Amino acid sequence: MKRDVMLVMILLMAIVSCQQQVKKDGADNSGAMQKDTVFVKTVLATSKDLACGMSVTADVADTAHYNGKVYGFCSPDCKKGFQSDPETYLAQ
Ligand SMILES: [Zn+2]
Repeated sequence: MKRDVMLVMILLMAIVSCQQQVKKDGADNSGAMQKDTVFVKTVLATSKDLACGMSVTADVADTAHYNGKVYGFCSPDCKKGFQSDPETYLAQ
């Protein structure tokens, strides 16, 4: 019986430490997201979605790599359109 109590205590401690870990990770993630936004603004080859012309500096849903450059797109569909014929979009 006493051993069971010890097991419950250990389990509770493990759960509490897990929750603290999650909270800590959450804080780290918000910092990482801010870094991602800066990363997107500095790395993208164009500030516009080449498929639909929308600005993608603030909100990039997807990116495609082509000829060593990174292009941002507002949606996976725009990315697919670009990838199906990149030269046509780049010539515009
Ligand atoms: Zn688009």
